[in-house]
Order: sequence, then structure tokens, then C-alpha cells
Amino acid sequence: MAPRIQVDVVSAEEPIFSGEAEFAVFPGEAGELGIFPRHAPLLTRVKPGTVRLKIPGRDEFELVYVSGGILEVQPTLVTLLADTAIRAKDLDEAKAIKARQGTEEAARSRAEKFNIASAEAELAQAIRLHAKKKGRNTHLVVFCIASEGGSVASISIEGIKKEFSGNVVLEDLSLHIPDGKFYTLLGPSGCGKTTLLRCIAGFYEADAGRLLFDRDDMTHVPTHRRDIGMVFQDYALFPDKTVFDNVAYGLRARGVVKSEIRQRVDQAVKSVGLADLAERYPAQMSGGQRQRVALARALVIRPRVLLMDEPLSNLDAKMRTQMRDVILDLVQEAHITTVFVTHDQEEALAMSDQVAIMDRGKIAQTGTPEELYGTPVNAYVADFIGSANTIPVDVEPFDRSAGGAMHYRLCGRRLEGVSGGARADEQGGVLVARPEELSLHLVEPAVENAVPGSVLRRQYLGFKTSYRVRLQDGPEIRVDLSGGDRAIDPHPGDPVQVLFPPHSRVIGA
Ligand code: ATP
Repeated sequence: MAPRIQVDVVSAEEPIFSGEAEFAVFPGEAGELGIFPRHAPLLTRVKPGTVRLKIPGRDEFELVYVSGGILEVQPTLVTLLADTAIRAKDLDEAKAIKARQGTEEAARSRAEKFNIASAEAELAQAIRLHAKKKGRNTHLVVFCIASEGGSVASISIEGIKKEFSGNVVLEDLSLHIPDGKFYTLLGPSGCGKTTLLRCIAGFYEADAGRLLFDRDDMTHVPTHRRDIGMVFQDYALFPDKTVFDNVAYGLRARGVVKSEIRQRVDQAVKSVGLADLAERYPAQMSGGQRQRVALARALVIRPRVLLMDEPLSNLDAKMRTQMRDVILDLVQEAHITTVFVTHDQEEALAMSDQVAIMDRGKIAQTGTPEELYGTPVNAYVADFIGSANTIPVDVEPFDRSAGGAMHYRLCGRRLEGVSGGARADEQGGVLVARPEELSLHLVEPAVENAVPGSVLRRQYLGFKTSYRVRLQDGPEIRVDLSGGDRAIDPHPGDPVQVLFPPHSRVIGA
């Protein structure tokens, strides 16, 4: 275990960090000592200038920002840290720390991403320059690689509330977004997706609740200190800047050295397939190309969190599908926590590790696409994810455990299903039957679980045929038949039997 030290870091009188932080130390080539704050956010928000590092009960130390997240501190701090028994680490271990935990392969790829070699060269150069300028031979250098990402944050939203002029848009909303995941906020227009994303970004301050990136309380941290990358529906590019300058913007604002800006922007522009268009202006590009620029601009700063608000909505259908792959490739390579807002359920299913379905300012259900599709907790979710026939049914008393076999009554028939959370003491439930799970028969099948009806409409859709069927003395439902199922192809007016599979779920009304 690396030692933990209680520190306060203050910049321009504004607290940046307060708490216990772990440090790892390694000896540098020129006799200097490099320190990596293991607690990544420490010093991550340091801007050029002087900051003070206060160790309670001890002295206060001044740190001088050198460049690109490198800080020089007074040599006396060396002694102090040594006193606190920080073990010297070798460079390999320092690299491992930079790469954070994870599989060896992930660590290697992250180490590459951080461009450790160039960071180390920069560090050594800075030490030499300062040594020369100040006539000193040994310096302690706090090397804060995390100042430009390298730390992939989880996001915890705890009881957030947001209202606009008395209109409550988010209410006591809690959500945990694990680090490195592609997480989608899905829901109909007006349910509060964008408002939640904007609270995470810091464009809106929540009226109640807390927002954490890892263990850091970000609730009142301004947007520019949250270390986020943002992609908007309308691209939000600077029209008077070239692609190169648009992408370079965030790096320039962070004071990154020129040579590194060139290298990183070139690489980012190449990664989105626009290497040949770097000198173009946004007006000279298609929507898909502009969105690629916006993506490169968001990712080049190596943010802790990438936030995307309906980034594909302005693109045509074909480009939307192509851009899904571009986005997934980039965020997977960057291994970055991504929050993606959409109202398009197919997009959500296709792209996400996990999805939160929102309903009028609250979370209706969270889960993987498979969980949401297979085990929706209520009719709202079932209807929103994929398409579902949601039919009110009478429920017989049954074993309370979810997933257990049970019986329900539909159109006067007794059918078998499984419990999807309906309570035993409730008589009413909602049958969730996906159109593709149902089948049609011309005569009553030998198995149970069929209900008679007649075909109202038949729509041929190529890979499937969709039927509108009215159940006898019951509601209209949809049945989709594909491939081999189409041996039976009834037409409007034909009587049919609709077979409900015994694994259909009945959920609480
Ligand atoms: P969409 O998919 O249409 O963008 P959404 O789910 O992202 O919808 P929000 O944009 O978060 O929904 O809006 C949720 C509600 O909050 C809406 O009723 C909207 O009118 C209201 N709202 C959002 N921003 C503001 C604001 N700045 N001032 C007042 N009301 C707002």
C-alpha cells in the first residue's frame, strides 16, 4: 500500500482538493524525484500559476506550475514526504500506476495513449530548465499525468433534483454509471435526459442531491474544471476555425505545448478519418464530417468523462448507422466513460453497455440492453424498448418469486406464463408479449396457450411479415413472422390461433 497523506490543494484561493491522497514516488534520471498522485483528481485542475499545497499540522508549500501538468515544489517537501515514509518506486511501477488497474493489455494500451515517453521527456526537460534557471541540481517534481485524463471516472448521481420555475424536471434521481462503460439515457422527448446530462456537465446546477466522479464531489465544481468532453446534436463547432483549430482549441486552452498539440490533433483528426480535411472550415463539410470533428475535439483533451447529447439526430439514416461504429470504435479505444443521450431505442440497444430508461424525470429501469428487453419491470419499459403487446390480464394466485410459473386469464382462456414481478395478492397484471415471440396457426395447435382471433391487416416487410390480429373478445395485437414461420401466411379476414409462449412475462399493472 502506498502511503496516504492528508492534503489540501488550493489554487487562486479556490480549493481544488481536500482529503487523503495516495502518492507513489520514483527516482528520476537527473536525481529528481517524480511523484504520481495515485488519487488522480489531486492536482488535476491546476492551472498555470502558483498553487499551494497545505499539509495540515505541517508547513504550507508553494508549487510552481511548469508545464503540461508538471509542478515544481520546494525541496523541503522532499524531506517531508520522505519522513512520511513514501517508498521509492521504480519507473516501471510508475508506468503501471499511470496505466491504472486493469488487464495487462488494457494497461499497455492506456500507457501508449498517455504517451508516457513524451511525457517523461517533457518532465526531464522541465527539470533541466529549472535547474539551470535556478542554479539548483535537485528538484522535486510532482508529475501529474492525470491532469489530462488517464483517469476514467465512474459517475454517481445521488438524489438529484432539478426544477425550472417550479416545474420539477428531475426528482430525487439516483444513478451509478460504472467507469469505462458506454451508458445511455433513453426516454421520450421531455423526460429530462438532456437536463440530467447538463447537470453532469455542470451547465445546470442541481437544486438538491450530489454528483460524484469517482469519489470526488463535483456538485458545485464549474464545468471547465470537470474534465469532460462534450458532443452536441448541432456539433457546436467554431465556424471561423479550421478543423485543426477546432480540435486544437481545448489543448490550447489547457496550455499544452505547441509540438504536442500538433501531434495530438493530427492523431485525433486521423482517428476520425479526416486527415485530409484538417484545413477545411465546418461550412465546407457534411453533417457526418462535422460530427466527427466534434468527436475528435471532445476526445483529444482525454477527458475523464465523455458526454454526448443526441449526437446522431441530425444525420441521415445511413450516416447514423455508420457513425455508431465510429463512436464505438473511438470510445472503446479511449476506454472512456461515456454518457449518451438518445430517444432512439434501436440506437440505445445497439450501442450501449448499459441503459437507463427515464420516465418523467425519474429512472424507470436500468440494465443491459438484454435485461431491459428480456425482463422489463413495467409496461412503460416494455413498450419503450423494442415493441411489445402489453395486454391487461387477470392473474391467478402464484408463487411470489419473479421468474416463477403462473397462470393468467386472457379472452376467457387460462394460459401459462412467468411472473415478471406481479404480486401474488394482485388480481391484475400486464402480459408482455413481443410480436416476434408469438406465432400463428390456422387450426388450434395441440399445445395449450393459444387464443383464437382473426387477421385484420398483413404487412409484408421483406425480412418479416407483420400481422394485425384481433383476439376473440379481446384486444388487437401484433404478430411478426419471419423466415420459416412464414409457411403460414394468413390474409385479412382469416381466422387464426395466436400461440402465446409459456415464457411470456406477466408484470405488475
Ligand atoms: P428531448 O429528447 O426533446 O430533448 P429531454 O428528455 O432531453 O427531451 P429535457 O430537454 O431535459 O428533456 O427537458 C425536460 C423538461 O424540462 C421539458 O419539459 C423542458 O421544457 C424543461 N426544460 C428544459 N430546460 C429548461 C430550461 N432551461 N428552462 C425551463 N424549462 C426547461
